[in-house]
Amino acid sequence: MAYYKAHSVGYCPLLSFLGLALALLSASAQAPSQGLSQARHPAFLAAMAEQRPGKAVSRIGALSEYQPALKGTALDSPVYFIEPQDPNPALPAILILGGSHGDEIAGVAAASLFVSWARPSAARLIVVPRANASAATWPDPDRPGPQAVYISGASGDRSFRYGSRLTKPEDETTPELSLADRDLRNLNRLHPGDAQGSKTAQAAAAIFALIIKENVKAAFDLHEASPVSGLAWNIIAHPKNLTYAAMGILAADERGVRMVLDQSRDTHRGLSHREWGQGSETAAYLIETLNPGQVSGGRADMDHLDNAVAPLWKRVGIQVETVLAILSAHSEMDSQAGWAEIRGMPGLEDLKHEFTKYF
Ligand SMILES: [Zn+2]
Repeated sequence: MAYYKAHSVGYCPLLSFLGLALALLSASAQAPSQGLSQARHPAFLAAMAEQRPGKAVSRIGALSEYQPALKGTALDSPVYFIEPQDPNPALPAILILGGSHGDEIAGVAAASLFVSWARPSAARLIVVPRANASAATWPDPDRPGPQAVYISGASGDRSFRYGSRLTKPEDETTPELSLADRDLRNLNRLHPGDAQGSKTAQAAAAIFALIIKENVKAAFDLHEASPVSGLAWNIIAHPKNLTYAAMGILAADERGVRMVLDQSRDTHRGLSHREWGQGSETAAYLIETLNPGQVSGGRADMDHLDNAVAPLWKRVGIQVETVLAILSAHSEMDSQAGWAEIRGMPGLEDLKHEFTKYF
């Protein structure tokens, strides 16, 4: 029990354990005639094992609730519902995705901090920390990284697996006829999805159905970019919600976060920010931090925690601060004042000085 030093900051390992137990119960309840191992794919259970749900997590669901064909497959993934103290299904929702690309590890870690710490006051926060659960299980042969990023955190030893941009080949049913077909396994090329399409396209369809069904007003897709792509430290926003992103950038700048704003274009067909923004009422954003390991040939020996250029605390802190700053802009500018406020999250300075305390 000596691991659990974080009681003083409100982390509750007991509730975390209860959350896991409830999820397991729900997993077996959905398939009473099957054992748990048949009900949930190992990729789903591995994604769940990475999380430490905080006391505001009211339920752990699954992408397959929105796309039943995903059930039992490696493309199903846990969905965390985080609600105010008086839960109300009529409240608007906020969606945060990590792990659309399994090697963009700061997005996964930032999403996991929302699962542990976020306390929305007037919205339902929905977090999918491993949007492509299969991609987390498969090290990219072209761009390998470390097996996982290990954090000796206040809740115990954590590990975030370092996966691939793409669905594991064995988990995808649609055959690839050429190299160009590799995008059939790239979740962030397949939005808004296809319920009759490849497994990866079905996962995209589940996310889009979630956005519609859960009344998602603001959606964030957390990514990382290579040093040569020019995308690092960017926010890409759908044109209809560009003003919120601009306001967010100004507010985040005061907290030491420097981001560049770009907008969705027609060349972005299939990408989350473009398709969610185009096909639904949600305000859609994609955030990119820098992962120095995303270079051809990979950097299997790179130390993500203490990298000199982009240490993990900075990448995760900027993801969190950017989401919160844009949500503050929504709270200030939308007719329903304060709806998008989220409390309890560590900021960039907290993560700089006490990174492990929050894990
Ligand atoms: Zn990405």
